[in-house]
Amino acid sequence: MMTAFEQQKARRPSNCLISLVVPCYCESENVANFIRQVNTDLEGEELEIIFVNDGSSDDTLERMIALSLEDNRIAIVDLSRNFGKEAALSAGIDFATGDVLIPLDVDLQDPPLVILEMIAKWREGYDVVNAVRCDRRSDTMAKRTTSHFFYRTFNKLADVELPPDVGDFRLLDRRVVEALKKMPERNRFMKGLFNWVGYSTTSVNYERPARIAGKTSFNYWKLWNFALDGVVGFSTLPLRIWTYVGSVVAFFALGYGLVIIVQTLLFGRSVPGYSSIMTAVLFFGGVHLISLGIIGEYIGRVFVEVKDRPVYVVKDVYGKKLESDND
Ligand code: UDP
Ligand code: MG
Repeated sequence: MMTAFEQQKARRPSNCLISLVVPCYCESENVANFIRQVNTDLEGEELEIIFVNDGSSDDTLERMIALSLEDNRIAIVDLSRNFGKEAALSAGIDFATGDVLIPLDVDLQDPPLVILEMIAKWREGYDVVNAVRCDRRSDTMAKRTTSHFFYRTFNKLADVELPPDVGDFRLLDRRVVEALKKMPERNRFMKGLFNWVGYSTTSVNYERPARIAGKTSFNYWKLWNFALDGVVGFSTLPLRIWTYVGSVVAFFALGYGLVIIVQTLLFGRSVPGYSSIMTAVLFFGGVHLISLGIIGEYIGRVFVEVKDRPVYVVKDVYGKKLESDND
């Protein structure tokens, strides 16, 4: 009897098409280097390279087009403006046609050489192969600490488990990609979506090098909002917690009320209490605003989902592959 896993292994085609999905925002210095590195590291593999130009304001698109004229494995999806990395990734995933799909950064922080190890794992029968950053020396101490804190909080709150130190760099089998494409939400917290779909998963380790050129487009404010999108998109605990906070507070309020009544009955009316009243009013004013704010976070997202706007808008596509599809 063959196990389900062995069946998967047997189904893997001997030569597979690998789709690299590469979101790019103002990366004019990096695109050519990226292709050069891919050609060296993945020589002999059957590739499809989907560049998504996420509304770059420099000459990234021109450079991509120049590359695609010489290399018909390169396809370019040009978005109408900057939609953010998550949306750009979603666009690339929609256009990719390979047997396996691998999202990776164009700044070579996700080394293409690791892909060979991923493919080997895929051939063993796994559907998802996560690339785990075993060495984050290239990140600052602050980034590592906040990232650690985020994963811990997220995993406590959310209904999916995010493996720590895994970014978007991972291998996805075609079946996983099809499952992902069925997820209709506007809030594209891709890491969460990747894990939500499930499938048999394994991992490979790699060292994350520093960016080859250009600078990161993620600052702390962006990362904070990204984290918020993640938590709110995958957990309703922040909403529900107020039921319990409210119940506990009401319980103590009742107890304290009884104490005051008994005191009044036994010792007569006592007027002092300004400080306790002020403390209670201000404290609960704060608690109410926080809970309203959290409800607001969810309502805001419900609003965005209900409008049902597309996740991205494609202005144009380039490259032999996509251009001929459109004829
Ligand atoms: N990126 C994008 N749209 C954006 C911001 C970034 O497509 O609005 C791309 C960027 O070009 C790169 C990848 O996402 O290929 C990761 O970005 P970055 O290197 O700035 O992030 P970091 O590695 O610092 O997390
Ligand atoms: Mg980077």
